[in-house]
Amino acid sequence: MPRPDFPKTIFEFQRQFPTEEAQLAFLIQSRWPDGFVCPRCSGKEYWWKATRELLQCKSCRYEASVTAGTVMHRSRVPIPLWLQAAYLVTTQTPGMSALQFQRQVGLKNYATAFAMLHKLRSAMVKPGRTKLNGIVEVDETFIGGERHGEGAGRGRGAANKVLVVGAVDLQGKYANRVRLKVIPNASSATLTAFIREHIEPGSTIKTDDWSGYSGLEGAGYKHIVTGEIPHIHRVFSNLKTWILGVAAHVP
Ligand SMILES: [Zn+2]
Repeated sequence: MPRPDFPKTIFEFQRQFPTEEAQLAFLIQSRWPDGFVCPRCSGKEYWWKATRELLQCKSCRYEASVTAGTVMHRSRVPIPLWLQAAYLVTTQTPGMSALQFQRQVGLKNYATAFAMLHKLRSAMVKPGRTKLNGIVEVDETFIGGERHGEGAGRGRGAANKVLVVGAVDLQGKYANRVRLKVIPNASSATLTAFIREHIEPGSTIKTDDWSGYSGLEGAGYKHIVTGEIPHIHRVFSNLKTWILGVAAHVP
């Protein structure tokens, strides 16, 4: 079995990690894709130690950690919090401050939040994080207000809104990987910089008819202007739902 995917939407997250058991199962499968195998005796039977991050081989009593080799190892922060934090950092707001992160994860201690954010960001900068490719939908939206309309007014922000650009590549009919970034404006320079950073040259990029995307052919991409970019719209919709859910818990 392949290493399991980390959830990419809040719905996937809720479906994949409904309980602590499900979270631990995910960690086991990440470390041992074919199920636990004792490194010492190759036994496959185990039980959990009381801490629930250690499991013990039933035949030779070897203790193995499900968090070894991850940012969670030897951390006092509980695994469910780590997974939520990893979800936030991998899917949502690349420019998130440690203070925002602290509030959203619900941590009392700012130093802990800062350290977690730093560890997660460091862990994300690795070869596994490749650029999106193939067919990629790109769009931008305001968070904290209504979505921009077409034409006039587009790209003009309001003080209480944040402009976010997003990209999602497709695997068959389905959304695969997502990249999101808070941007200062929807200019051609800003959007092209985001696309160069996150999407492989030669990919086919689908956008609406906003002029900020008109230079993509010159930048080495195939460009399709279309009204049909449902996957990135769904990502934005999930993002807004998630932010509303978080806001409801912020005192
Ligand atoms: Zn063993």
